[in-house]
Amino acid sequence: MDDTIFALSSGPGRAAIAVIRASGPAAAAALAALSGAALPAPRRAGLRRLKDPSSGDVLDEAIVLWLPGPRTVTGEDVVEFHVHGGRAVVAGVLEALAACDGLRAAEPGEFTRRAFARGRMDLTQVEGLADLIAAETAGQRRLALAQAEGALAARCTGWRDQLVQALALIEAEIDFSDEDLPDGLGGAAMAALAAVLADMRAVLDTAPAGEIMRDGVHVAILGPPNVGKSSLLNRLAGRQAAIVSDISGTTRDVVEVHLDLGGIPIILADTAGLRAAADTIEREGIARAQARARAADIALWVVDLTDGGDRAAPAWPQDATGRRLVVGNKVDCAPPQPGCDLCVSAATGAGVAQLEKWLAAAAADMAGATGTASVIGRARQAAALRYAVAALARAVAADGAGREAALVGEEVRLAVRALGRLVGAVDVEDVLDIIFADFCIGK
Ligand code: GDP
Repeated sequence: MDDTIFALSSGPGRAAIAVIRASGPAAAAALAALSGAALPAPRRAGLRRLKDPSSGDVLDEAIVLWLPGPRTVTGEDVVEFHVHGGRAVVAGVLEALAACDGLRAAEPGEFTRRAFARGRMDLTQVEGLADLIAAETAGQRRLALAQAEGALAARCTGWRDQLVQALALIEAEIDFSDEDLPDGLGGAAMAALAAVLADMRAVLDTAPAGEIMRDGVHVAILGPPNVGKSSLLNRLAGRQAAIVSDISGTTRDVVEVHLDLGGIPIILADTAGLRAAADTIEREGIARAQARARAADIALWVVDLTDGGDRAAPAWPQDATGRRLVVGNKVDCAPPQPGCDLCVSAATGAGVAQLEKWLAAAAADMAGATGTASVIGRARQAAALRYAVAALARAVAADGAGREAALVGEEVRLAVRALGRLVGAVDVEDVLDIIFADFCIGK
């Protein structure tokens, strides 16, 4: 890990200011080579005229920072160039850096990977940071920021410390079983295990809400052809995302739009009308619609209020488990009908605000935005915690059935190891590439 890496860390394209970072042992030398003058005082901004060291060409006048390690984002020496964000300026500085001894362009996520390798961040913080960069809604940002700041890591560290202490007591009992140990030592250890288990379970319970917040609430719009499903999607999206026509069977694939309702991400999918299909392509569209409906957290069944024939009971696809709402459309042309939970007009927008309100409330309920905020956002994290909870539950149960200290100890060790995996302290080489691949270059 001895090379020094550099990258444009701000967004590509023209901007007022662009930030270029370098990290590694040759960072300070590179800063000196480009700025000529002495380094600014550590962590103090300095104004410098940057020159290409080989040609002497002036590249820009820039703010530069010298951040000596190890108290930096990567744990290494870091320098930053805050240059004018024109393409030629950025390209010139990047070229000059590439020509410096020991410097090379960074891979995606490489700055963060170094931070992880040097113990500046644990794995949950890395995941939180990736999510923070990708966050599109306020709810996603809050969850990601809590993780990036170490909310989950702190809980894990607390649990691990308590489990390791309990383990020491349990092992003392095994090793010194013939000697006089203070009474109640094992009992205290078991009480500690039960307390940690309860705490871990409470956090695990919030995992589904956290995953929904991170991944979004999936809403499928279902119903027969021509009832106004595409029009409703466009109305909710506020733009023309789906093709609307009065020819039946126009939407043959699933059209998706992303909405932000009260800070919660919603993935709204318009589906092919569910009817006996005319051709192969439409049949495929209908199969996809049904798959979508089964996987959806919320399904809206749209009926056409102007069409008496189609007002039959909604044909919810089998095994669809999400919440359901029957929406009567075209209320501008026909009166509301019993059997519809809500009546709207996709054409005029009547009733759509109410529908949005209902969706926002259902989504908030699922994402737990109104209850305790989750600190878990990913299936990987939930799986590791679930494993730890299962091991610890076996340890606690083993106690009830005439305690076998060695058995209890083994289960506690498994739980500690699972928590280690959660924060990335053990056995995680295989997941690292997957996680860091999510990052952009310069992060
Ligand atoms: P889909 O096949 O269910 O997606 O239906 P579309 O959105 O393509 O709409 C079918 C037809 O109904 C189009 O001609 C729309 O203009 C019309 N339509 C959709 N919503 C409304 C509405 O609220 N009121 C009226 N009057 N017509 C509508």
